[in-house]
Amino acid sequence: MRIIVQKFGGTSVVSPEVRELVLRKIEKARDQGFNPVVVVSAMGRQGAPYATDTLIDIARSAYKNIADRELDQIMCCGEIISAVIMAGTLQAAGMDAVMLTGGIAGIITDEHFTDARILKCDPTKIINLLKQGKVPVVCGFQGMTGENEFTTLGRGGSDTSASALGAALNADIIEIYTDVDGIMTADPRIVENAKILDCISYGEVCQLAHQGAKVIHPRAVEIAMQKNIPLVVKSTFSDAPGTLITNIAKADTAGSAVIDRVATGVTYLTNIVQVKVHLDDTMGTDASFKVFKTMADNGISVDLINIHPGEIMFTINADHAEKASIKLKRLNYEFEVVEHCAKVSVVGGGMREVPGVMASFIEALSRNKIAILQTVDSHTSISVLVLQSDVGAAVKSLHEKFGLSN
Ligand code: ADP
Ligand code: ASP
Ligand code: MG
Repeated sequence: MRIIVQKFGGTSVVSPEVRELVLRKIEKARDQGFNPVVVVSAMGRQGAPYATDTLIDIARSAYKNIADRELDQIMCCGEIISAVIMAGTLQAAGMDAVMLTGGIAGIITDEHFTDARILKCDPTKIINLLKQGKVPVVCGFQGMTGENEFTTLGRGGSDTSASALGAALNADIIEIYTDVDGIMTADPRIVENAKILDCISYGEVCQLAHQGAKVIHPRAVEIAMQKNIPLVVKSTFSDAPGTLITNIAKADTAGSAVIDRVATGVTYLTNIVQVKVHLDDTMGTDASFKVFKTMADNGISVDLINIHPGEIMFTINADHAEKASIKLKRLNYEFEVVEHCAKVSVVGGGMREVPGVMASFIEALSRNKIAILQTVDSHTSISVLVLQSDVGAAVKSLHEKFGLSN
């Protein structure tokens, strides 16, 4: 059996006209000899009646701090409505489509409501349906605990559902259908002349996704990578070939200059604050340890960490700023919080050991008078902390500087 997993995002299932386009993609896969397994997200984006954000607003209208468990129950409704409508659309076209919740499809998770991890994915039910010539239509974004409770996999998690099913089914390919023609060198909402990438390595796209490119969920990439299953990100609305995500060797044989390019893409993360804690000799040798231990004990994850003899700097999500300030005050430490920051990153598997990448990076920002608050780099990325008001200019100037606009 040649299995293809086809995942359709919210904008791809929003109206009868668009669902007809989805039908064509599924029919095409069948014509090519594949057994499709369809995964759908909730219909539409913010403002649409059954979109995830709308359902969250409904729940929070009852109580702002409604528990995550209850939030998950209402969020799951979005994908259930969508999968029922999609199964109906396929049935109307003569296909034997069967709607499945995430749990019934075999996705078992831990109990971390709103951000559950998949513990196992049992493909038995889906394989049986495929053997009978049926088309499973699975609710994305959701799983079930061992106690049969609905959970969700974190925002954007329908991609994760598709990859988990693809891995469990040993699929030939996983297709992620969305509203852009593929993964681009930058968010097209910021950089008008961003380019579609023909192919990209799992590692690079993981970094782009972790650093803010919301086009695909990083966990989906990690799961596909473990089984070396090719992922393709493409548009429901066109016949463009999309972006192939695979390992470097394969991407190279596909004819792309993956290995030649220094930078692959530019991305950004907002809603960040920078914390600067002042240290002096009287505070003892474990002063910096106490700061990080306090953050850890309060579930606050830290990023962009620099430790100097007189000062510690790190960043946290702005939602945790108040809690962090209260805890640091209790430690009696002198500190400063810089609000409204953003992290801008250039990612590229090809920048490893290439001299001058940092110089180009700094040149691009300083020419545009963008203040650099902090930097961090790895073999395959450079990130900088800037003020949120500088994000657009920073992304555009780095995109240009690294030759991604040509
Ligand atoms: P879906 O609902 O189909 O899952 P998403 O909104 O999750 O769609 O992802 C698609 C969106 O990701 C695009 O509309 C685009 O605005 C945004 N995006 C951000 N960064 C990138 C990028 N580097 N390449 C392509 N799209 C990007
Ligand atoms: N509907 C969910 C969300 O908006 C999952 C997804 O779209 O992938 O986050
Ligand atoms: Mg998405």
